[in-house]
Amino acid sequence: SARLIDGTAVARRVRDEVAKGVAELVAQGGRTPGLATILVGDDPASEVYVRNKRRACAAAGMRDFHRRLPTTARQEEVREVIAELAADDQVSGILLQLPVPAHLDSEALLDHIPYDKDVDGLTVKNVGRLAQGRPGLRPCTPAGIVRLLDEYEVPLAGAEVVVVGRSVLVGRPMAQLVLARHATVTVCHSRTKDLAEACRRADVLIVAAGVPQLIGRDAVRRGAVVVDVGIHRGDEGLHGDVRFEEVAEVASLVTPVPGGVGPMTIAMLLHNTLEAARWQQGSAAPAA
Ligand code: NAD
Repeated sequence: SARLIDGTAVARRVRDEVAKGVAELVAQGGRTPGLATILVGDDPASEVYVRNKRRACAAAGMRDFHRRLPTTARQEEVREVIAELAADDQVSGILLQLPVPAHLDSEALLDHIPYDKDVDGLTVKNVGRLAQGRPGLRPCTPAGIVRLLDEYEVPLAGAEVVVVGRSVLVGRPMAQLVLARHATVTVCHSRTKDLAEACRRADVLIVAAGVPQLIGRDAVRRGAVVVDVGIHRGDEGLHGDVRFEEVAEVASLVTPVPGGVGPMTIAMLLHNTLEAARWQQGSAAPAA
């Protein structure tokens, strides 16, 4: 049966690396990296995410800037906050917590973040740089998945990688990142005709559909590596998009939920914030 991919352990290693990198940068006379989080409204899940990001940032020795706006904030007000943080050289990274209230245009807001402070990798510039295979800041969840696969020495060059989901946040950048690593990539989504058949091609199956229990053993080739991005809160705690017990019988490696992909997202946010600070202080753009 499958070995587990321990995302908690890898995330801890990444966070330690970042803390060391922050200390080195400061010892060399550089500015302390700082992350600015912007929270608009009072969505309870977003509040928890932002709190965890701020704590992790402080724990890594970075400065924590935070702006809170009411649910009724106008586009112009959020834009002004972004402009102010953009102009502040103590702020290395700007993160607009999504989703924002429905009357705001999140795409337009994101594009006001300077691309070298775009630590979520969601501005049109960084998305374009990824699509062109140029250096830049990458979305945290898919970047964390690549790091997990590297840590477990899962080969990507020439591998068949199937990504389930095509969201701007996860599926699309995931496909681009493994394409940049020379995988043969298939992207499935809600209109895919025979999902299980497409998934069975995979040497590496990455599932980010947001549908509980979507993937069972009929969709997994024996020996495949399975990465479950889904997060669903049920009566007995968290689960993913994968029927874990079934899939663990045929896969060679699988991520648990919780403790797989989840912890990597914040770790990669810290990594991106350090990379952004170095970039702003004269280092090369973050490598692919
Ligand atoms: P989303 O809803 O924006 O996108 C889901 C994608 O899955 C869509 O492209 C859709 O076409 C596809 N899809 C939906 N139903 C499908 C089906 N039946 N068959 C095939 N494809 C289907 O979601 P998202 O933001 O990409 O997030 C996906 C999941 O990952 C969610 O459960 C979310 O909570 C979780 N997530 C986890 C982390 C993390 O840190 N672990 C980060 C982001 C998202």
